[in-house]
Amino acid sequence: MKIATKEISAVSLVKEALEKAKRCKNYNIFVSLNEEAALNRAKEIDAKIARGEDAGHLAGVPYALKDNFLSREGNTTASAKILESLHAPINSTTVEKLESEGAIMIGRTNLDAFAHGSSTENSYFGPTLNAYDKTRVAGGSSGGSAVAVAKGIVQFATGTDTGGSIRQPASFNGVYGFKPTYGTISRYGVVAMASSTDCIGFFARSAEDIDLLMQICAGQDEKDLTTLPDYYGAEGQSLSPQRIGIVKDFDLSHVDPAVKKTFDDKVAELKASGHEIVELSMPALKYALAVYYIVVPAEVSSNLSRYDGIRYGYRSEDAKSLDDVFEKTRGAGFMPENKRRIMIGNFVLSSGFYDAYYLKAQKARTLIIEEYNKAFEKCDFILTPVSPSPAFKLGEKVGDPVSMYLEDVMSVPLNLAGLPGLAIPAGETESGLPVGLQIVGPRRSDKALLEFAGTIANQAKINEENN
Ligand code: GLN
Repeated sequence: MKIATKEISAVSLVKEALEKAKRCKNYNIFVSLNEEAALNRAKEIDAKIARGEDAGHLAGVPYALKDNFLSREGNTTASAKILESLHAPINSTTVEKLESEGAIMIGRTNLDAFAHGSSTENSYFGPTLNAYDKTRVAGGSSGGSAVAVAKGIVQFATGTDTGGSIRQPASFNGVYGFKPTYGTISRYGVVAMASSTDCIGFFARSAEDIDLLMQICAGQDEKDLTTLPDYYGAEGQSLSPQRIGIVKDFDLSHVDPAVKKTFDDKVAELKASGHEIVELSMPALKYALAVYYIVVPAEVSSNLSRYDGIRYGYRSEDAKSLDDVFEKTRGAGFMPENKRRIMIGNFVLSSGFYDAYYLKAQKARTLIIEEYNKAFEKCDFILTPVSPSPAFKLGEKVGDPVSMYLEDVMSVPLNLAGLPGLAIPAGETESGLPVGLQIVGPRRSDKALLEFAGTIANQAKINEENN
């Protein structure tokens, strides 16, 4: 707004963002900065405004791009050696839409390689540090994007969420993170992880900001046939009071006390503001994590088969035969977690094991979807923690894949069912680490969900001022 009225120039905003990014260098937020191109774009936008032209709804707003979105500016690495030198010839649909509204990408953010992980420690470029405690993880896989917003470097950042990669790092760094209904934003031009659960979404400092980004980026795209027409869904849903579901099958006795307290406090606060709390029994959710870690590796193994050293990126130099090229390139180009998933995926898809694992998992996935359908007959939104604990220590889980996978126990069920979920900042631990909560809505309730989150944030502010 201040840009359109010429109170602030786009150039000064971009310069400030780049300076902040450099000051935060030791957090390892960015894989690369987009300095020159960003400043040039800012100059163009200032010139447009000076000529009295419309420069778009995001004119001059600096943003950070998770480094698995293709963009003609810079290399798209997905934080993996195998793509380190990939210069994309296209823009992803999201980049195209954001830039057509005047947003300016100032840098590409770090992630777990190919978005496999929950801590950003699986990145080829090393981990991103938590915005509140440098001895702890940023969460993942979109750790860089979450910390870029939390440190105030940019107003918003893009993310991808296949099983929690937006919501968990948002929660670990005290910002909002939104995963929309599956298909709301085009996946065209984004490095695929698991095509049936991958979603594009955002990090920002309010639900209102995310709402604006959704209006700009959602919509049908002929380059992604799974896209939905828009993000408005069933308009006219009443906003308050609401029936809020809480899942009694999530056993909170094992979660961190600060997470439990934040959850209980929010439930009490919602009750006090006149919302009805509905207890839900959802026994099939206990299968979600197992189902996710069969279905997702299966899709990962198929999506990663295209990186063979022939078509894109890195190729091993000392190979002596074609098979050797594949073996050495993939051996050196992928991180251990990528390889683990390729192996699990090939195993569960192989004849002899397909029926026992993959097919069974797909059946259980249907049960989970049906269970959510039934739950949303009884309530409008469901409130859960985002993850069992606040940000954990660097190195604490990286050597133990199963304990890392357990991080995702509350975030993956939504991805399997294609539902929208928003992480909101909600509390903190005694030592000041942020704790988020997750609001889940029925399919295509995205707009209502963000508005509801905006309302409860305002209510929380009023309550705080009155105390
Ligand atoms: N932590 C989850 C996983 O490792 C989520 C990843 C994601 O959403 N990209 O699969």
